[in-house]
Amino acid sequence: MALRVLKFGGSSVADADKVRHVARLAANTADEGHQVVVVVSAMGKTTNHLVELGQTLMPAATNDATANRASGREYDALLATGEMVSTALLSLAIQQLGYAAIGLNGQQAGIQTESLPNRARILAIDTDIIFNHLNQGKIVVVTGFQGVDGDGNITTLGRGGSDTSAVALAAALQADRCDIYTDVQGVYSTDPRVVPEAIRLNQIAYIEMLELARVGAKVLHPRSVETARQADVPLVVRSTFHPEDPGTMVIALDNMALDRRVTGIACDKNQVRLALVGFSDEPGVAGQVFGAMANGNISVDMIVQAVSHPDPNGKLLNDLAFTVTAQEAADAKRVLENLLPTVGARGVFEEADLAKVSIVGAGMIDRPGIAADMFQALATANIPIRMIATSEIKISCLVPKNDADRAVQGLHRVFFPEAHENEASAASMVNEKIGY
Ligand code: ADP
Ligand code: ASP
Ligand code: MG
Repeated sequence: MALRVLKFGGSSVADADKVRHVARLAANTADEGHQVVVVVSAMGKTTNHLVELGQTLMPAATNDATANRASGREYDALLATGEMVSTALLSLAIQQLGYAAIGLNGQQAGIQTESLPNRARILAIDTDIIFNHLNQGKIVVVTGFQGVDGDGNITTLGRGGSDTSAVALAAALQADRCDIYTDVQGVYSTDPRVVPEAIRLNQIAYIEMLELARVGAKVLHPRSVETARQADVPLVVRSTFHPEDPGTMVIALDNMALDRRVTGIACDKNQVRLALVGFSDEPGVAGQVFGAMANGNISVDMIVQAVSHPDPNGKLLNDLAFTVTAQEAADAKRVLENLLPTVGARGVFEEADLAKVSIVGAGMIDRPGIAADMFQALATANIPIRMIATSEIKISCLVPKNDADRAVQGLHRVFFPEAHENEASAASMVNEKIGY
């Protein structure tokens, strides 16, 4: 008898009929002789509505960490309710099919997290609780996206975090497999909603998937991939509405990945560029800036320090630019402005409405010419590049948000030309497959 963890995203449980369909898939897995743990997200767009509601009533962030923490606590308690609803409904639907089922929230399932509202990490899972229920022959349904900290506060894991709940449970329970059921048929060469000709990948390496998830391919939450890789959890991404399709296996790096120039293209439309302008070219400023960001719990992404330039008196000045998410931009700007007198800079520059477009592939290691092809593709589409960042298996360009979809489409044509050979017929086939 194997243990399977199945995770269903919001669109998979968006209404009662869909919940019934998911209950049937869980029951079928039990009929195959497996023990089944189901992790479920909030129904449809529930979390978005809760975010909107919560933000309407939330006090503005202040310099008082205790006050911010207090609102963070209530905000997490609010967001976590979405998964509690879907968990109860799915448990009822499974029982309606004549199977024993129990729903557990993060605390009841023994999911311990760090004490950081809104993006807590899972620290440990008390597996005895779930094993007890499984051994009594029950299908166990667990809320995704949430846990409990050492003081008993409800915490959430960051948007999209139910994937991480599922993989962490699969790792802790030593499940044979973790199936992430979603509204597309696997991991594609890029978001099939932006490029209908995108190709479904049969397999992708953990490191490539991790990089793609980090740069915006929301099909998997980055921490879920990190956890799967560390714990060697066999991970499959597949379709809730075409469960017979094989989906995409996330696996260790193999030769096939190295043979491809690029494996995937992703886009993050939530970027703001900030710059500290005209500070004197002396060691230590970058340390002060990023130290202050870290103290404010602000994640900094792309970083560029320009070549120093002389002011009218011949004194060498420098600029330091970086990106943050739109949600953290106001806090990050405040931190920079507070630093102005200390570092003697001329000012702070901000540009909003930017997107980061990235190409990812383990095959780009030691293969020249890929960056040039990327820049050329963006130039051909007449799209300006505001910043560039590279890692061993990724190249990212910051572009205006309005140009982002065109950028992804142009890059897909260049790096996956086979998908565009017969544009019209390929588009209609993929559209039919993903049920547009
Ligand atoms: P769920 O609610 O099931 O967690 P998400 O909306 O979080 O689903 O993730 C699935 C979505 O991810 C797809 O509908 C698709 O638009 C988007 N996506 C982005 N990049 C990719 C990609 N490379 N492959 C597949 N889907 C992608
Ligand atoms: N419901 C949460 C969200 O919308 C978690 C998830 O769906 O993974 O972000
Ligand atoms: Mg998701």
